[in-house]
Amino acid sequence: LTSREFHPADTVVDVDGLKIGDGSMVMMAGPCSIEGLDQIMECARIAKEGGATVLRGGAFKPRTSPYAFQGLEEEGLKYIREAADKYDMKVITEVMDEANLELVCRYTDIIQVGARNMQNFKLLEAIGKTGKPVALKRGISGTIDEWLNAAEYIANRGNFNIMFVERGIRTYETATRNTLDLSAVPVIKKLSHFPIIVDPSHGVGVWDYVPQMAIAGVAAGADGLIVEIHPDPAKAWSDGQQSLNEKTYLNMMEQVHIIEEAM
Ligand code: PEP
Ligand code: MN
Repeated sequence: LTSREFHPADTVVDVDGLKIGDGSMVMMAGPCSIEGLDQIMECARIAKEGGATVLRGGAFKPRTSPYAFQGLEEEGLKYIREAADKYDMKVITEVMDEANLELVCRYTDIIQVGARNMQNFKLLEAIGKTGKPVALKRGISGTIDEWLNAAEYIANRGNFNIMFVERGIRTYETATRNTLDLSAVPVIKKLSHFPIIVDPSHGVGVWDYVPQMAIAGVAAGADGLIVEIHPDPAKAWSDGQQSLNEKTYLNMMEQVHIIEEAM
């Protein structure tokens, strides 16, 4: 169901009127974690100013350490919904388990499946049954074939509102957090009809490298970008080292729009 052989034409995902995969570029931006109402409001203002139409932010956070901040949960979901509504944006937020799927669906427009859950097949099937737009992140060590099969679990439960998110894979390289595999963009485009979004923030893990890789993602043919921003990255509760401040984000977006128009 995921393959281009089965469905030759590009699938356009419709998020309540916002089209993803129709040839235009969708911009998603926001903090790694929702930290409070003021913070997510400020992020929404910045994101929108740069042209983003989707506000990202995690309320359920898959942290490496169980002692690290785990997210504001439902309180956070309320804040991101309020901020997105105020700025007329859509919400994308992660669901980590089936138990919270219904709760997350009440607040979000797009469900994010995190890299660590790419092969959580029961979660994928449950998301398949909701029919809700879903952004399926590539697993930390996921091959393209495993990723396509993961999408198949969602599609075979009747949900065709799928987008892939390339967020970097684990390699021997340590200068960057992950290795952003931009070749996944043309490969996925060839093998599947679903859109693909690039996440340069988790892809490189260092804010300084994010703008170049965002631009490269658009040039590679991505249907959109998802980028982490923060009003004060040094004080972020998670992923501050890879978050763009307002100025860097807005500068990046000027260049992104130039490449977008040239495509
Ligand atoms: C995130 O988007 O903040 C996140 C945890 O991403 P990933 O699942 O790609 O690591
Ligand atoms: Mn993050």
